Amino acid sequence: MRSDARIGVANGARYNFVMIKTKTIATIGPASRDPAILKQILDVGVDALRLNFSHGTLEDHALVLQTARRLAEERDLPLAIMGDLSGPKIRTGKIDLQHNRMEIGNRLVIQRTECLGSSQRLSTTYPKIVEEVRVGERVLIDDGTIELRVVARQSDELICECVRGGTLFDRKGINLPDSRLAVSALTDKDVTDLQWAIRNRLEYVALSFVRHPDDIRELRRHIESAGGDQEIVAKIEKPQAIEHLDDIIAVSDAVLVARGDLGVEMSLTAVPVLQKDIVVRCRSAGKPVIIATQILQSMMESAVPTRAEVSDAANAILDTADALMLTGETAMGKYPVEAAAVLQQIAQETEQYQTRLATTFEPWIEEEHARVDSSLAAGAKLLARHLNPPLVVVATRDGKTARLLSKHRFEQPILALTDNPRTRDKLSLNYGVIPMLISPPTDGPALLATMNRLILERNWAKCGDSILVVTGSNLPTQSGRNTIVVHRIT
Ligand code: ATP
Ligand code: MG
Ligand code: MG
Repeated sequence: MRSDARIGVANGARYNFVMIKTKTIATIGPASRDPAILKQILDVGVDALRLNFSHGTLEDHALVLQTARRLAEERDLPLAIMGDLSGPKIRTGKIDLQHNRMEIGNRLVIQRTECLGSSQRLSTTYPKIVEEVRVGERVLIDDGTIELRVVARQSDELICECVRGGTLFDRKGINLPDSRLAVSALTDKDVTDLQWAIRNRLEYVALSFVRHPDDIRELRRHIESAGGDQEIVAKIEKPQAIEHLDDIIAVSDAVLVARGDLGVEMSLTAVPVLQKDIVVRCRSAGKPVIIATQILQSMMESAVPTRAEVSDAANAILDTADALMLTGETAMGKYPVEAAAVLQQIAQETEQYQTRLATTFEPWIEEEHARVDSSLAAGAKLLARHLNPPLVVVATRDGKTARLLSKHRFEQPILALTDNPRTRDKLSLNYGVIPMLISPPTDGPALLATMNRLILERNWAKCGDSILVVTGSNLPTQSGRNTIVVHRIT
């Protein structure tokens, strides 16, 4: 988090990294779950970790979670953990790695019952595939690397011909862009994984392969009936999701542009424009949007990314994405820490450019104008532009006021003070927000005094500076009132 040079230079004791407004997420897998690597990834300044339930076991994820929580606690830093539910994604079963080359023209049988797969025959995680896919339809494997066409169908198998060759691996995704599947939005496995996520108090839950706003509503019902409070992230990767995009955005807490499957389900060359369109629509709805997949893909193998990758990441920031997410780079790659560090550096330099040239995008947000809190956030943005304070402070209980400010994309960092540890960790993923835990304030003056002290201790402003302080109505000190105060640091 960072925009202001004063803040950048004067890193407080708790923030031993430069403040960058764009948030970064790292997927944790075999390459990064070792505690020493995980620590380095957090030290670099990553704001959130993703656990992908499509891979590994719940025991693996539990170990990562335990380590991550401990590291965050030790350093007293906010950290959001996102559990990524597989959704109705069909995957290959186990593959015999001695016989896994697919060449053009090869015949491959997809069978209903489980088997050790090869280039001759394989099974999938969705046995009903043999009933629901028809002759002539495409079967794409591993983000579309391998392309098959169904040439015949029998009661328990599909006979396919290879149109584009490649190498088969375990548990790679299978996309069926021509088929309409009866598969439900939340599979039995998703429900099990979700229960685990709720029990372990993950801050965010993402749903893959969302097709309709009802998928999100169903997930929210599950969360609420289990007593959970997770923020819901809708992964956009299906043509049906693009059809219902605005409605999906409206019922979700955040959106993720899952470019891997999106590029297979739609078309690869449609991805850049779809990405821009999704970002614009999320911005106008005031919902955070995350860009993911192949951000620094070449760093799977190389210690430095390509120019094109760096440029793509910087452009996503210039397009006003809220967060960038690393997937294979940190889960499986050779350079997980370097990849996380490069992303921070790209964000830092790109944000400096935005500030220097004052090209910061003026968000058009479809406000609910009659609402006091959202009007106040819009007013705060105007005040901040006139007064140019070194930072904006928000006192918030459940994070709502902080999120309202975040979506206005202030030039100043937003210091979010909360007495709720849950809110602090959730806000770790909101653009431009620096969440910090304080003890519950007894009254308004006590809150201002605490804030004054925290800012001076960290050198984030000096005596005489005017700070904008926005306070949500849910705080006990507020007795139901929202306020904006211009506070002079003393
Ligand atoms: P999604 O479509 O949800 O992104 P994915 O298969 O593309 O699923 P990513 O999370 O993007 O998975 O990670 C890229 C690769 O890293 C995966 O294909 C998998 O091989 C590996 N991976 C990720 N997490 C794990 C894990 N916990 N255990 C084992 N392998 C993992
Ligand atoms: Mg995906
Ligand atoms: Mg992926």
